Amino acid sequence: MSGARAGLILDRDGVINVDTGFVHRIEDCRFVPGIFDLLRAARARDFAIVVATNQSGIGRGYFSEADFHRLMEEIGHVVAAQAGTVFDAVYFCPDHPTEGIGVYRRENDWRKPHPGMMRQAIADLGLDPARSWAVGDKMRDLEAAAGAGIANLVLFDEDAASVTRSHGHWVVPKLTDVVALFDR
Ligand SMILES: [Mg+2]
Repeated sequence: MSGARAGLILDRDGVINVDTGFVHRIEDCRFVPGIFDLLRAARARDFAIVVATNQSGIGRGYFSEADFHRLMEEIGHVVAAQAGTVFDAVYFCPDHPTEGIGVYRRENDWRKPHPGMMRQAIADLGLDPARSWAVGDKMRDLEAAAGAGIANLVLFDEDAASVTRSHGHWVVPKLTDVVALFDR
């Protein structure tokens, strides 16, 4: 059974903020050009907007779950101010199967490329996977989404020369290119 609503499921590091490595403080958070336009366009189409992010920096002991939640709250404030919208849900996986410390060292179906976070988002928000979109900067983001049945997959690659489609997913050099794909 599929839900009624379309979703836009975004990776965080490398899609919302520039991935400078285990970002956990707002001072170190630079937003990716075009992200606010993409969020505004998604909201205008009544998409549920979801963040699904591996955060093994927590499991590795680099920062805490509280640090993660604080940064997401601060990112949320910027998104509200700049894009006039909010995240409907945020999912994160703190675990890592080999680098995690203590309870965080474990296999977890939520860790991308596994589909757990995506499946949870679909269930929680009643998303229609066939009309939903996932945007990531790594293939593992797309593999996770595909594993949950999400039909529309986009790899954000700033080095791509143009918008192309290959092996069942789109490749875009700019986040605003995704908006055009929504309306094809
Ligand atoms: Mg990423």
